[in-house]
Amino acid sequence: MREEIIDRFTTYVQLDTQSNEDSKETPSTSGQWDLIHLLSDELKRIGMEDVVFDENGYLMATLPSNTNKEVPTIGFLAHVDTATDFTGKNVKPQIVENFDGNDLILNQALNVVLSSKDFPELPSYKGHTLITTDGTTLLGADNKAGIAEIMTAMNHLIQHPEIKHGKIRVAFTPDEEIGRGPHKFDVERFDATYAYTVDGGPLGELQYESFNAAAAKVTFKGNSVHPGTAKNKMVNAAKLATEFITKFPENESPEQTEGYEGFYHLISVNGDVENAMVYYIIRDHDKEKFEERKTTMQKFVQEMKETYGDAAVELNMSDQYYNMGEKIEPVLGIVDIARQAMENLDIDPIVEPIRGGTDGSQLSFMGLPTPNIFTGGENFHGKFEYISVNNMEKASNVIVEICKLFEAE
Ligand SMILES: [Zn+2]
Repeated sequence: MREEIIDRFTTYVQLDTQSNEDSKETPSTSGQWDLIHLLSDELKRIGMEDVVFDENGYLMATLPSNTNKEVPTIGFLAHVDTATDFTGKNVKPQIVENFDGNDLILNQALNVVLSSKDFPELPSYKGHTLITTDGTTLLGADNKAGIAEIMTAMNHLIQHPEIKHGKIRVAFTPDEEIGRGPHKFDVERFDATYAYTVDGGPLGELQYESFNAAAAKVTFKGNSVHPGTAKNKMVNAAKLATEFITKFPENESPEQTEGYEGFYHLISVNGDVENAMVYYIIRDHDKEKFEERKTTMQKFVQEMKETYGDAAVELNMSDQYYNMGEKIEPVLGIVDIARQAMENLDIDPIVEPIRGGTDGSQLSFMGLPTPNIFTGGENFHGKFEYISVNNMEKASNVIVEICKLFEAE
């Protein structure tokens, strides 16, 4: 399994599949199509059935049931795109066999060092085979590790027909990193009862709660007048924006919260005397507190209007996604199965709320309850991204084990 998983992963990461927010197309970039075609061929080659992708690049395949039992159809999903934060072009994966636990020089010339000073978990990978970047790109373990793990698990099940399982569905999807992953996902066509995204981080991660999320854009209209004759005439939009920002409680920000604590995050400020704009995201696991945060946003905007007039301030706020826990809690057995699968393989499950969203957040609300399991990767979205091959094998084994447990139920 090891060679197979390394081969797959290192092949996938060499294709540049970075998504692009500015594109209106799905997939948002042509590089994603290259990987979709490659994966489609590979799914057919290993013996998967009904391998099809639609015009938006959603690739689906089936592993038929090999049992007489009634077993719910289970899906596994991963995304083909990589993050927009850092370049994914010319990824040159470096394989470190039998890692000695010491700091790793990723790039001598550029002095890029993966150090336990910055990444304290690093020494715990002593003895593992690691795959790192060459210090100039991200790695793309998010989420190509997930793809390699699902593909390897499916191949394993095909090679071992003595392992009984129900019908398994697989989907590889575009544009997760720009928040559009499930937008055009055809849940009916996928036709699974439950699914898992294989898109988490370190060994043991198992997640079924995400944030509730909204975005708010507040625009301020000023009145630019020559500063020499501005008395009682000038309205400075940039100053209005600054005043608005100070209304928010300083400790309810991403840098001062953790666990189940929500926040307002000021993403950007732009402006001059005439026009200014602030962009916030609002996050909270708790639905009620989430609604309260949106009300607070409206209240602060209202206060600005009362001081500077209705026309001076405008709020555009919309919901982005909701806590998938709401949809998964009624079928919590699917989380228990994933937990059991990990325990059967001597992996300690780490069940923690995601401080973000996954494709599962949207899929769960589209009628497909979808928790998230680990890939084994660390430090996603940057040049220090790396992954343990040992843990990739474990992720693949967890997928196989989940299929077994559903059949054994
Ligand atoms: Zn991801």
